[in-house]
Amino acid sequence: MKTKFYSILLLSVLLYTCKTENNKTVTPVIEDTPASIEEHSTTDTHIEKEPEVISSPKINNFIEKEGITISPIEHGTMVLEYNGTNIYVDPVGGKDAFNKHKAPDFIIITDIHGDHLDVKTLETITTPNTVIIGPKAVKEKLPEVLQKNYNVIFNGLSRSFSISKMDVDIEAIAMYNLREEALKFHPKERGNGYVLTLNNIRIYISGDTEDIFEMRQLKDIDIAFVCMNLPYTMTVESAASAVLQFAPKQVYPYHYRGTEGYSDVNRFKEIVNNGNKNISVGLLNWYPEQ
Ligand code: ZN
Repeated sequence: MKTKFYSILLLSVLLYTCKTENNKTVTPVIEDTPASIEEHSTTDTHIEKEPEVISSPKINNFIEKEGITISPIEHGTMVLEYNGTNIYVDPVGGKDAFNKHKAPDFIIITDIHGDHLDVKTLETITTPNTVIIGPKAVKEKLPEVLQKNYNVIFNGLSRSFSISKMDVDIEAIAMYNLREEALKFHPKERGNGYVLTLNNIRIYISGDTEDIFEMRQLKDIDIAFVCMNLPYTMTVESAASAVLQFAPKQVYPYHYRGTEGYSDVNRFKEIVNNGNKNISVGLLNWYPEQ
């Protein structure tokens, strides 16, 4: 009898609860256990933005974003893949350096130095359909057969390229030295940095430069690759200062081996993180020997 009474009481309470919830038009949520309710409510009251996952050195050595995969090869060389299309940036190091990647649909070159332009590598990887894009100074160093595939682009101008599988918009950004003692390395207007727009993602590749006005003025950059090595480009402090100004969503130090060894990319990360927590700094393995 007592059991029946309690059962009726429990049923009444449950019905009342449901009615109250219905009146409030609350959708009932079925939780597995009280523990899970506790867990959920704790999470709900402490909503924190999950930090964007950034690849760590030697663990996950590539970047994936909106269907775009970016693989560092070495130093200033990388491969971008999107929708079956391959873009090689400054391919050097011979054909074997790219054996994990399909032949390039596009090759983008920043400057004439050996760590960015290697005619022998270009001759072995370029197909008749490869579109090569770069500054005029690079074209002048190429044999005639490669010049046929070559499109010159000048600082400050942009061009759109379309092939069956993809559209890519390429804007050439100035790259040059500022320090008196470094002016000889990269005179203004010879080389190009780039902003590539792929699937609405804007990717900045600095080339060899210091923290120039043109970099500081960049807008809406999703992913930035910024050089930092001495004596050829700039200090990690100058690179961090420019990055804090143009504030990309993600930044990756690259091209950071100099004559005195590797630049302190952890210091770069620390300065950027202290200056703006919304900029994710990713460290990738650009140097197999490191
Ligand atoms: Zn370089």
